[in-house]
Amino acid sequence: MKKVNKIYINGEFVTPNGTEIFNLINPANNIKIGEVTLADEIDTRKAIAAAKQAFKTLSKTTVSERIQYLEQLKNAVLKREQDLTNIMIEEYGGTHQFVTLSNKHTVSWFDSMKEVLQNFEFEKNINSSIVILQPVGVVGIITPWNASNSSICSKVAAAISAGCTVVIKPSEMSSLQTQVLMEAFHEAGLPNGVINFVTGLGNVVGTELTNNPDVAKISFTGSTAVGKLIAKNAVETMKRVTLELGGKSPNVILDDADLEKAIPTAIYGAFMNSGQACIAPTRLLVPEHKLEEVNAMAKSIAEKIVVGLPGNEDTNIGPMVSVKQFERVQSYIKLGLEEGATLLIGGEGKPKGLEAGNFVKATIFTNVKNNMRIAQEEIFGPVISIISYKTEEEAIEIANDTPYGLAAYVSSGDYDRALSVASQIDAGRICINGFSHDPMVPFGGFKQSGIGREYGAYGLQAYLEPKAILK
Ligand code: NAD
Repeated sequence: MKKVNKIYINGEFVTPNGTEIFNLINPANNIKIGEVTLADEIDTRKAIAAAKQAFKTLSKTTVSERIQYLEQLKNAVLKREQDLTNIMIEEYGGTHQFVTLSNKHTVSWFDSMKEVLQNFEFEKNINSSIVILQPVGVVGIITPWNASNSSICSKVAAAISAGCTVVIKPSEMSSLQTQVLMEAFHEAGLPNGVINFVTGLGNVVGTELTNNPDVAKISFTGSTAVGKLIAKNAVETMKRVTLELGGKSPNVILDDADLEKAIPTAIYGAFMNSGQACIAPTRLLVPEHKLEEVNAMAKSIAEKIVVGLPGNEDTNIGPMVSVKQFERVQSYIKLGLEEGATLLIGGEGKPKGLEAGNFVKATIFTNVKNNMRIAQEEIFGPVISIISYKTEEEAIEIANDTPYGLAAYVSSGDYDRALSVASQIDAGRICINGFSHDPMVPFGGFKQSGIGREYGAYGLQAYLEPKAILK
């Protein structure tokens, strides 16, 4: 059994003051695989103090020094890519297919920030004044279990590029992954105190980070409910916040779309990371006259989806991260039936032969009305709602009829038409005809999907405070 009993403060692995133990459970079989000793407020304060001290030097480094740090971090994480893959499969049940891809992104954040730094203006002249973009200070990084390493690396790359030091509070459920990242970051050899890790509970370590006056900014990725709590607490010390929250993304299939391409992409996309993805296109909007055709296609594609052990290369959907998450998804499937949606495939209960783990059947509801709770609330599991629309205007209306606005997807045979629809959807990232990833363009949410943007130059700016010096 693995034991995670050290945190990382000021360049050293130290035994936490906190003594509470959290059990790490393999979600594919619910067998205990490890224990983590949780850090507490005292540990958090020590880490913040180390980051505050290190900020004095890091904030004054040159762009080329920061590029060098990013290079060191990238090389160190790259060496541990395979370890991260193995542990992500074991610890949260990430499928081999998904974690392999996710780890490519994890490493790439350092390169994309290097590229941003090469062209970024930290100082500008406006009229006769100078505007200096100054690093905001110590940053508290709080991350979820579903994209732990990628979130941490993306935020660390941006913070270091800006000259900010960090205290990272990963999800306690990601402790084994965190152990690998801590070791990699230590090996990267940055000055002491620039990067600190304090793994503990949200309402302990997270709350201390959010309240502590020596933390200037919180960069948070997680649920909308916790994001709201963080924003409320952070305002007391007027912290800057970047909040990457939940989503219920629409996937608008226009009537001229090539269904043979669009529907498989829609189904596999919604089931990415076993449906535990903030950007998953879980609302599939289809023209009313094509509903029957789409239903038939969606069903036949879903029949081929493999729900199985996450380490198998052909598995598309692995287990839910925890029993709690499994039960949450089950309750939404039950709710969908009660609300009167038509179950196309899947449904309640575990797939045969997978009773030991937190496995959910690939589930698709059709004849869903957008005001049903299954269409409005983030389920965070492999559950798709097919919703029909009569006109393009109605499709846009339905797409926007949500408290969220993280991502959206539009498929059409006519790019200009898709672009026109995309420009009318209120979401931070919209993909036309499939899924694309661009680390240089901003990522973040409209409405209750968050505040602020990450990635590229927009992401870097979020760690900087403009200061005008007038003659
Ligand atoms: P969560 O909100 O429960 O937890 C996220 C982090 O916040 C964890 O580290 C947790 O310990 C911490 N936390 C909990 N309570 C806290 C508090 N009171 N103060 C400070 N920190 C606290 O989310 P989760 O279940 O780990 O992750 C799933 C959620 O994350 C989903 O809603 C998903 O949509 C969202 N998410 C969003 C993005 C994005 O980029 N927008 C990416 C991935 C996940």
